[in-house]
Amino acid sequence: MTTQLTDQDLHPAFIDGSDKKLLIGGEWKPAISGKTIPSVNPSTGEPIAQIADGGEADVDLAVAAARAAFEGPWRRFTPAQRQRVMLRFAELLDRNHQELLRIDVHDMGSPIGVARPGSTPRDTVEYFAGWPTKIYGQTIPNSLPGELFSYSVREPVGVVGSIIPWNNPVSATIWKIAPVLASGCTMILKPADVACLSPLRIGEIIQELDLPPGVVNIVTGGAEPGAALAAHLGVDKIAFTGSSGTGQAIMRAAAGNLKRLSLELGGKSPNIIFADADLDAAAPMASMAVFGNTGQVCVAGTRVYVERPIYDEFIARMAQVADGLVVGNSLDPATQIGPLVSEQHLRRVSSYLDKGKSSGVRVAAGGSQIRDGDLARGFFVQPTVFADVADDMPVAREEIFGPVASVLPFDTEQEVIQRANDTPFGLAAGVWTRDGQRALRMSQALRAGIVWVNSYLKFDPAVPFGGYKMSGYGKELGAQGVDEYLNAKTVWMATS
Ligand code: NAD
Repeated sequence: MTTQLTDQDLHPAFIDGSDKKLLIGGEWKPAISGKTIPSVNPSTGEPIAQIADGGEADVDLAVAAARAAFEGPWRRFTPAQRQRVMLRFAELLDRNHQELLRIDVHDMGSPIGVARPGSTPRDTVEYFAGWPTKIYGQTIPNSLPGELFSYSVREPVGVVGSIIPWNNPVSATIWKIAPVLASGCTMILKPADVACLSPLRIGEIIQELDLPPGVVNIVTGGAEPGAALAAHLGVDKIAFTGSSGTGQAIMRAAAGNLKRLSLELGGKSPNIIFADADLDAAAPMASMAVFGNTGQVCVAGTRVYVERPIYDEFIARMAQVADGLVVGNSLDPATQIGPLVSEQHLRRVSSYLDKGKSSGVRVAAGGSQIRDGDLARGFFVQPTVFADVADDMPVAREEIFGPVASVLPFDTEQEVIQRANDTPFGLAAGVWTRDGQRALRMSQALRAGIVWVNSYLKFDPAVPFGGYKMSGYGKELGAQGVDEYLNAKTVWMATS
C-alpha cells in the first residue's frame, strides 16, 4: 500500500522560507548582531530556513524579560490559573502535534512513517498540569523552648536557562517547558542550532496562551547563547540536556553564582541478554534500541552483552534486523531509518565506523556510510552490528550517537555486572531473562538511573528519567522532575 503524502507533509506551513527569529519578552526579534545560520534538511543537504544566530546580548535581553515576568505578573498567577493555562497548552499541542512531527521530518530527519515512542506532548503537559495545586510545604515540630512555630514552603527557583540537544526536539522542549510552568519559574529555552524549528513553532503556540510575556523566551544559535546562559549571573538554574563534555563546561561556567544545575547527559548503556531470554522479543527490541532514531538516542543500548551459548544466534538475529531495515529519505513513508542530523555528525559517526573496523571487530551488518544515488546528498550510514568487540575499544567505551551496536560475549552474571558497570556513564541499562530472581539481582547491581527488564525505551511522564555518574544528575519527569525547579524555604515564627 502506498501512503499519499499531503501538502502539509511536503511543505509544513511553518517552513515557509521566512527567517526565524528569537522569542524575547513576547516578541519575535532578529538577533542583535543580525546574523543568521542555515537550517538544513539532513535527507538532502538542502537549506530549509535561516535561523537567528543569537549571542550574549540577546541572552541578556531574554534574561531581563524572564526576570521581569518572574517578579511581576506570573508570580501572581494562582496554582489553579497555572494549571488552567497548562491544560490549554496541552490542548493546543495536541491540535498541532502532526505539524510539529512534520517539521522534525524536514529539520531533524525523523522518518515520517515511524511512530515516536513514549508519551505525546499532550500527555506530558497534562501530567505536569496536575502539579501546581499539589506543591506543599510541611509543618515541622521543633524542640526549642518557648513559643516557636516552624514550617516549610516550596518556591520556584526563578529564571531557568533550558539548553537542549537536537535528537528529539519536540520532547526535549516539552520536558523543559512543562516543569517550568508547573513550578512557577520562567525560562529561556536554547535549542540546538541544527534542529530548532519545532521548538520555535512551540514558541508560536505559547504565544496563543494567556501567559504574561517573558515567561517563555527562546534564543536560538550555537554554543555562544548556551555558554552565555550558563555563566549569566541573572540565571538561577540551568536545566541541560546534551553531551557530558558540554555538561562539564556548563558546570564550570555556572560556578560564578553557584546556580542550580540539572544535567541529562550522554550514555553508553549496556543491554544484557541471558541465554534463557525470550529471543523473539529480545532480538528486535535490542536492535531497535540501537538503530531507532538512527541511533541518536541518549539511552540507546549500544553495548549488547550476550551470554555465550546464544552469542552467535543473537548476532545473526540482530544482523538480520539491521540488514532488513529500510534506510532512506525521511519523507518516504517506507523509510524506517532516516539520516543522521548533520554533515558534522555524519563525519563523527563515520570515524567510529572506521575505528571499529580498524580495531579488528567482526562486521556482522552494515559498517559504512551510504553513498548511493539520492542518499549520497544526505547524511546516511548503514545500521551496523559490530561483533567480537572488546571492552576497551573506543566503540565499546565512547558514545557514538549513531546506529552502531557493539556486541560482546559474556559467561557469568558476576562478570557481566562488573563489565557493564565499568563505564564512566550510567544513564540506562537493559536486562533480558526469564529468571525473576536474576532480574531483581541485576536491576539492583547495575549502576544506572534507569533499568529496563525484558523491555526497553519505555517512558511515561509520571516516571522519573535521569542518569548516574557522568550521565548527569537531577531527574526529569515525575514528582522529582518538579522538585528540580523548586527551592525549599523554612520559616520560624515566634508566636508569643
Ligand atoms: P551538545 O552537548 O553538543 O549540545 C547540547 C546543547 O548545548 C546545544 O543546544 C548546544 O548548542 C549547547 N551548547 C554547546 N556548547 C555549549 C556550552 N559551552 N555551554 C552551554 N551550551 C552549549 O549535545 P548534542 O550534540 O546537541 O546532543 C547529543 C548529546 O546529547 C549526546 O551526548 C546525548 O547522549 C545527549 N542527550 C542526553 C539526553 C538525556 O536525557 N540524558 C537526551 C538527549 C540527548
